[in-house]
Amino acid sequence: MDYRQQFSFWVGIRSLVLLWFLFVPSATLAGDVVVIGGTERQKQFVSCVAEVSSGELRALPSSARPMTFVILEHHKFLQSRDAFHAHRTKFAFSILASGRIYLSSRVFLDSYTALWCVPHELGHFVTQSTFEGPAEIAAARIRWRTRQTCGNVLEKIRDNSRTR
Ligand SMILES: [Zn+2]
Repeated sequence: MDYRQQFSFWVGIRSLVLLWFLFVPSATLAGDVVVIGGTERQKQFVSCVAEVSSGELRALPSSARPMTFVILEHHKFLQSRDAFHAHRTKFAFSILASGRIYLSSRVFLDSYTALWCVPHELGHFVTQSTFEGPAEIAAARIRWRTRQTCGNVLEKIRDNSRTR
């Protein structure tokens, strides 16, 4: 390869890399959240809360990777909680660095707990803070929007817990 060929080769590679950076994050933004585990209703509710928070989440530099919710049976949740040394929490915790939110299935036993926990954990992501104060301020906004938008799914969670 002469100099000119080499140059255009590297320009080609560099524009490919640039294209990748331009398109891959927006592709993951469009695919927004991943929910692992849980029932269909639980998945619907979590996706809906993530959807109403998406405006605030997209403003963050870390929003390039998809946010992942992991819903676990309570005993499995306790094992993960201990593995991550998140001992203070009962039902949910977040790992900001990896974009993951771990939820116990007990979060969904009634609509009150679901409406409390899921927006709270998203509040940690919106503020990128491990502190409870700022997370709760953001969570209050998310909770309000959740009530407006995800009411139907929230109702079904309540029905679900009644019939159990
Ligand atoms: Zn918290």
